[in-house]
Amino acid sequence: MSVISVMELICPDCRSPLSGLSTDRIFTCADCGSAILLHEGRSEVFPLHMAVAHPTSGQMVWLPFWRMAVAISVADPDGVDVTARSVVAQVTHVWVCAFFEHRPACFGNPGFDLTARRAAPDFLTPLPRGLSLCGGARTADQASRYARVFITDMLDRQKDVTGYDIRVTVGPMEYWGIPFAFDKENRRLTDLTGGKSYSASILEILPWE
Ligand SMILES: [Zn+2]
Repeated sequence: MSVISVMELICPDCRSPLSGLSTDRIFTCADCGSAILLHEGRSEVFPLHMAVAHPTSGQMVWLPFWRMAVAISVADPDGVDVTARSVVAQVTHVWVCAFFEHRPACFGNPGFDLTARRAAPDFLTPLPRGLSLCGGARTADQASRYARVFITDMLDRQKDVTGYDIRVTVGPMEYWGIPFAFDKENRRLTDLTGGKSYSASILEILPWE
């Protein structure tokens, strides 16, 4: 285990102690179901959800993601609204890794994949005691900038969208723990909400090891 509690913080909502690494920006409080973003001396509280997992026999770890509601409009170069017949017509939310994904061009991007398959996992309620997420480093603002990038990428994979007017408005954000099975021998992480498998190298450091 290389998790070292180097920060002693208090949840602004319920006064429970929080701990994390000095590089973390987001801390989770299972006592009140909050994710606390600390940024430039201010704290901001977001709802915390932990997704229900398909069972696994191996080690389960929780990786943090931002989930944001989005409103999308796509107009072709003639100004015709083509949103309803585009590949993003049914996309209501964008998922973005709250950890810094390591070399996504090489190892894949679980946030993009959750978005593309329109993942809508159920969440555990109440939050089980003692569940802990890997530290989050990407702020809500940083994550929200990916919404348009991901939507444009999804459109572009279907057809060239040069000249299209793509607008993405980001609504309320939530902080989610997504369960992954960790295969230590093969160094794989598999999304237990029914998604893909990734090289464990998507995380530069595996804090649970
Ligand atoms: Zn709390």
